[in-house]
Amino acid sequence: MAARMCPHCKAEITAANVVAYTNGVDCPKCGMRLEVASGSRTIATLCGLAASAIAWRLASGSPGDLGAVLPTLYAFLAFGIVSPLALMVTANLRNAPALPAPEPVHAGGAHGGPPGHDGGDHGPHH
Ligand SMILES: [Zn+2]
Repeated sequence: MAARMCPHCKAEITAANVVAYTNGVDCPKCGMRLEVASGSRTIATLCGLAASAIAWRLASGSPGDLGAVLPTLYAFLAFGIVSPLALMVTANLRNAPALPAPEPVHAGGAHGGPPGHDGGDHGPHH
């Protein structure tokens, strides 16, 4: 089960953690910031959509007043259940992009600049 290992120290990350913190999880061993690769999340979403479509089709055949409501409910539940399950199976962890380091601002290179105009060479206005 190499799908959910820290790419840094090879520590195993529990699937529950991966699913719970899809926006980023800290490796419990080395503290490396990790995130689920976007491709895995896309696959999980597609699986959820497929499951919800199937559930909707199955439920939409049911007669009765609830026939209009149940398909939507089942589709919603199917997406909510299948999507995280698919994410557990397919999730690949990668190093999260490091926080953008504040770069020193290169303010005004003094070299090669124009000679200072002090206003002395403009001549007085009459
Ligand atoms: Zn680690």
